[in-house]
Amino acid sequence: MSAPARTADGVPVPILMYHSVAREPSARTRGLSVSPGRFAEQMELLAEHRCTPLTTAGLAAIWRGGGALPDRPVLITFDDGYEGVHRHALPVLARHGFAATLFVSTGWLRGAHDTGGGLDTMLDWDQVRALAGQGMEIGGHSHTHPQLDQLHDEELEFELRQCREIVAGELGAAPVSFAYPYGHSDRRVRRAVRAAGFAQSLAVGNGLARRRQGPYALRRVTVRRSTGTAEFERLIEGRAIGRTFAADRALTQGYAVVRRARQARRKAARIRV
Ligand SMILES: [Zn+2]
Repeated sequence: MSAPARTADGVPVPILMYHSVAREPSARTRGLSVSPGRFAEQMELLAEHRCTPLTTAGLAAIWRGGGALPDRPVLITFDDGYEGVHRHALPVLARHGFAATLFVSTGWLRGAHDTGGGLDTMLDWDQVRALAGQGMEIGGHSHTHPQLDQLHDEELEFELRQCREIVAGELGAAPVSFAYPYGHSDRRVRRAVRAAGFAQSLAVGNGLARRRQGPYALRRVTVRRSTGTAEFERLIEGRAIGRTFAADRALTQGYAVVRRARQARRKAARIRV
């Protein structure tokens, strides 16, 4: 009666990357935020398209085990840990019964571990526990959200271990999925993430995720404040990739420029000292 089961191999999966869901986002999060109304519309579109949202660990488990994916699999992910995920996104997700994943930068969340780096109003740990209680997977996104490839080995290990231990301490279960801050990683970072105990990790790259990308470099597509209905539909159908790719390549190149400038400054600082 149903469509023949597709094997997990070869089925591309859109992994949607959200940041904040807010009516009035801070200036620094605005471009990557979505309004509560727009978010609700987008979840409605997933329902209309009969998409089946999975958690990150759920997708990885299917790909690891070689099982069949559900029809029209999709992942809904949120980075950093903005309060709007609890206030605005959770009720909508609960209404649809949609699975999702939240990747927290533990030092950005309000409360005992706050290092003060958050870019807008962040979640507190009671809210994170409420999200986990509703079935949202809580993954790691480092402790202070640095560009991991710029860190020395010890700093890198600290960022991963601290994040994992705080989530485990607050929620009673260690996180198994990770998302690279800025979507960026290199081989050393991927190895460290694996060694820290994370079983899979998400990048950016604005492409659909495929099994052959490997569990530590799964691609995501970015949902922005400027993402309209037609573009969102193309994203979930895997058709908007080319159009957003150019913009994101510019963004990535922007990051590269920032990184080079930082390296130059560091070098200059070392020379001065
Ligand atoms: Zn982030």
